[in-house]
Amino acid sequence: MRNQGASILLIYTGGTIGMKHDPVSGALKPFDFGQILDEVPELGKFAFRIDAYTFDPLIDSSDVEPAMWVDLARLIRSRYDSYDGFVILHGTDTMAFSASALSFMLENLGKPVVFTGSQLPIGIPRTDGKENLVSAVEIASAKGSDGSPRVPEVSIFFDSKLIRGCRATKTDSSSFSAFRSPNFPPLAEAGISIRYNDALIRRPSGDLPLAIHDRLDTRVSILKIHPGITPQVVRDILCGSQTRAVILETYGSGNAPSKPWFLDLVREASGMGKILLNVTQCPSGTVDMDLYATGKALKEAGVLSGFDSTTESALAKLFVLMGGTSSQAEVKSLLEADIRGEISK
Ligand code: ASP
Repeated sequence: MRNQGASILLIYTGGTIGMKHDPVSGALKPFDFGQILDEVPELGKFAFRIDAYTFDPLIDSSDVEPAMWVDLARLIRSRYDSYDGFVILHGTDTMAFSASALSFMLENLGKPVVFTGSQLPIGIPRTDGKENLVSAVEIASAKGSDGSPRVPEVSIFFDSKLIRGCRATKTDSSSFSAFRSPNFPPLAEAGISIRYNDALIRRPSGDLPLAIHDRLDTRVSILKIHPGITPQVVRDILCGSQTRAVILETYGSGNAPSKPWFLDLVREASGMGKILLNVTQCPSGTVDMDLYATGKALKEAGVLSGFDSTTESALAKLFVLMGGTSSQAEVKSLLEADIRGEISK
């Protein structure tokens, strides 16, 4: 259902969608938001109010920091009652991290927060930015037959698909189809009409007010396992004094080397109280540490399963959970639970 009287807040953070070639260096740099609106007169055809909020400075999303996620969450909370939905224009490089972060930071979300961007700047004739932006706005304003928001989730709209934010990963740097949600079907697909998979869309339970988790603890490292990895590198990452948690990016269904030195270091880190989370390097599929002896050894050494989580989502979840408590036990108990539809259990 089109929402005629809707109001949308368009939040512009930067990214290719709003970039132009710098005449001196020839490289792409963000330009101002007014020019985006000039390039997309189609937005004016919607019979609703679209207000804009521009971040300063505009950034290439490779420069995103958790502080920006905090700003985004606080902005959404402060404008929550004034808008039916929020569209965030963001660079594609870290969009899956930011969408994952916002998914966990916004609790009891009852309105759409749709991230989008583009692979080609909006001023270029073949840009994908217009279609992405126009559809994202339409989705952010859509209501169900009962008048409630159709997709009250943090999501990414890109190349005709709406996917859950904490399931997304950037898988292509050069095609228009930049994102995938390898372990969860799309929430909606845009063709001649937008087809919503209503049964998959999460809704807040009860009438609880929006709450934001804006304390993030970023003391997380990622250890990508590979043949030839050395004890020194594993020790530095697993046992580093600055980390509270380590995501182990393992092979296949959650496997890692069974060499004694490796398992000894995992046990040592676990004994130090580190949170160790197993996420597979495979683009799709899940961790099952009971399948092979090498996975079992990790489980016995205290490693927790990340199930079919993306690395982006695992990182964001750890930041938020750890920001909420200094108790490792509390974080561990929530880590294996599905809290925003980020894992299939
Ligand atoms: N480097 C750009 C960014 O992430 C790429 C993009 O937007 O597509 O901001």
